[in-house]
Amino acid sequence: MDANDQTAEPLDSFDMDPQTFRRLGYQVIDLMADAVTQESSDPVMPQVSGQQMRAIFDDPVPEQGVVPEKLIRACRETLLQYDRKNGHPRFFGYVCASADPLGALADALASVLNQNVTAWRSAPAATEMERLVVRWLDEMVAFRSGGQGLLVGGGSAANTTAIACALATVKSNNEKAPPRDRLSVYRSTQGHLSIEKAARLFGVPQENVRAIDVDAHYRMIPEALDRKLSNDLRDGLIPACVCASAGTANTGAIDPLLEIAEVCRRHRVWFHIDGAYGAPAAMTSDYHWMQDGFAQADSMSLDPHKWLFAPLDVGCVLFRDETAAAQAFSLQSEYTAVSEEDGIEHYAFFNYGLELSRRFRALKVWMILKGRGVRRITRMIEQNISLRRYLDARIAADPRLEALGSDLSISCFRYHPAGPHTGGAGACEPAAPAEQVRLNALNRKILETLVAEGRVYMSPTTLGGRYALRVCIVNFRTMQGDINLLVDEVLRIGAELCS
Ligand SMILES: *Cc1c(COP(=O)(O)O)cnc(C)c1O
Repeated sequence: MDANDQTAEPLDSFDMDPQTFRRLGYQVIDLMADAVTQESSDPVMPQVSGQQMRAIFDDPVPEQGVVPEKLIRACRETLLQYDRKNGHPRFFGYVCASADPLGALADALASVLNQNVTAWRSAPAATEMERLVVRWLDEMVAFRSGGQGLLVGGGSAANTTAIACALATVKSNNEKAPPRDRLSVYRSTQGHLSIEKAARLFGVPQENVRAIDVDAHYRMIPEALDRKLSNDLRDGLIPACVCASAGTANTGAIDPLLEIAEVCRRHRVWFHIDGAYGAPAAMTSDYHWMQDGFAQADSMSLDPHKWLFAPLDVGCVLFRDETAAAQAFSLQSEYTAVSEEDGIEHYAFFNYGLELSRRFRALKVWMILKGRGVRRITRMIEQNISLRRYLDARIAADPRLEALGSDLSISCFRYHPAGPHTGGAGACEPAAPAEQVRLNALNRKILETLVAEGRVYMSPTTLGGRYALRVCIVNFRTMQGDINLLVDEVLRIGAELCS
């Protein structure tokens, strides 16, 4: 078309006048307020089939626009109707927190502001806010790096970033790049899947991703790690990273961090702590001791979207020395040349992580930490932990229930009528194979029934071949009555299935 052709009508801009924005905004806020209220209403998990869902979401590509009111209504009729309520007081699945509504409002604001938090120059205020939030997180759990690190999409991204740093360090410590098939990475048998995923992604052979044995409480055995490292070094492998857990997703187990730090130091291996779930518990007096281990690590993962109650998604990776991150991610050779005085304005997140365009994730964390205060957040974490202890006490007091492992705010157990009741986590007698199969099937059926009835949601796990009912409490709405209801329902359904 001729540039001077004036016959085509200019298109209306997508801009909204303030009145329209306010009118629609209030409708969205009404929907959001209803969603927050409905978090507590049953069912936790609506029953809906794949066919039903596909039939609802089967529109052709929309050629023509429709009025926004229609879309807001469609969200109400689908998303509020059919999705799981992750903030429900009896949602105990996975490690999935209830989201602070204050953080949700902050997240909506972040979308409107649409800051691209790549570097100080692109977003001076948003960048400084993120750097402040990272310093706060560092200080809150006493990692003590002075706040070197960045926000990422979650624990998987944080673990992946840390492993990239560890591998880059190995590379820089060697004359020439070590062959990938000689590299090895270590975590316990209970370590998170994201570690193995990251290692494989970076070319570490799957068989070199070592799973170290755990004790009766599912904690990595430092001596076993030491032996494995010694053997691997003797065989010419190049150990790149040890990933310890500060709270496994299965049972909340915390690996012996100080002992592992010592082993890592001796063998000169990068020490990473996966605290995606458990790290914030180090703020409580009962788990304060974890801080000594944190101070020894080279890197750590911590998910504000888990036990700091931020809405999805926001994870954080902390580095002892961000030079390693620059070695892994910066393409500039002079990154070390940035002088102290212009350091602030030269700071670029893209030199320390994978992402270039980055969402303004810090805003919701800033708003939650500042709005709620860390003391109150810590008390909420303590409340979750004491509810787990209350659940453990109910399990211990009932001969039909068998404890299978618990720590932090996770407890695993199973219905075991007429079983040898030993009480101690992980200390139960091994059942005969046929009995094990029967118990596994029974508990699977209990869980399925429970979830289908819609008053409680749990996800299962397997511990030493035993199918376990797993309860994870990272929720500011959960109260003692919810724990009682859960236990009573398991006992009722178990009895019904056995009669
Ligand atoms: C949840 C979790 C992860 C993964 O974090 P995402 O945010 O889901 O990616 C890693 N490690 C542990 C221990 C976790 O609980």
